[in-house]
Amino acid sequence: MLYIGNHTTSSKGYENMARQMIANGGNTFAFFTRNPRGGKAKEINEKDIEKFLALAGEHHFGRIVAHAPYTLNACAAKENLREFARETMADDLKRMEYTPGNYYNFHPGSHVGQGAETGIHKIAQILNDVLTDGQSTTVLLETMSGKGSEVGRNFEEIRAILDLVDKKDKMGVCLDTCHVWDGGYDIVNNLDGVLEEFDRIIGLEKLKAVHLNDSMNEMGSHKDRHAKIGEGHIGLEALVRVISHPALQGIPFILETPNDDEGWTKEIRLLRESAENLVL
Ligand code: FE
Ligand code: FE
Ligand code: ZN
Repeated sequence: MLYIGNHTTSSKGYENMARQMIANGGNTFAFFTRNPRGGKAKEINEKDIEKFLALAGEHHFGRIVAHAPYTLNACAAKENLREFARETMADDLKRMEYTPGNYYNFHPGSHVGQGAETGIHKIAQILNDVLTDGQSTTVLLETMSGKGSEVGRNFEEIRAILDLVDKKDKMGVCLDTCHVWDGGYDIVNNLDGVLEEFDRIIGLEKLKAVHLNDSMNEMGSHKDRHAKIGEGHIGLEALVRVISHPALQGIPFILETPNDDEGWTKEIRLLRESAENLVL
């Protein structure tokens, strides 16, 4: 089963997000757990959750991929910012239990001059503070492009964070195609090689979700500007090989392309059709 959907901008509850996704031709989706710039989360409406769970079951949805606010920085230099990250993640993880067994993705952080090693330790420390034995959610570290002082710019840094987390079974990785391309991984000419490297350094069993984006920039640019599918330097063919790769079957593919619902509907259809017609 191919699970594909988009990061939905609709924030009118779980049922509406699912309905929008069904209209778009999707069977998974991503969403911000709260305003992407932070702030308070909307209250959970249990009726809404019930309707969502029924709908997702009926339409055979794959796992959904919640996204933490991108202002959250678990390795900030200022302790009050780290406290915000800690509280936000802990609260989000509590709320995630209303929709059990899904994914919570976050940007590892920016070390803002403290150095990657300090950043890695600080990120792992926050994870050790917020992960609980009882949670059914898997927390995903997103692979980053390495712009500015981003941590998670290569597979080694992701592995280093995972190594320092106590509750390893609660952790996974979300691979963003634009970010790894911008980070210098050639998924266009050597997808097998990149996945082999991921397997060697992190382990493919940790790869739980993919952000499927084209890139406005060249490989190794460390820029992180998403392009529409087929309109960037990665291209449609390479992205179809990603969603068709035998090692990546069953995991959710999330579009974070600069689109509206009409554009995402077209991309989802194009990707599904291209994957069906792909001759390997
Ligand atoms: Fe992200
Ligand atoms: Fe992403
Ligand atoms: Zn990005």
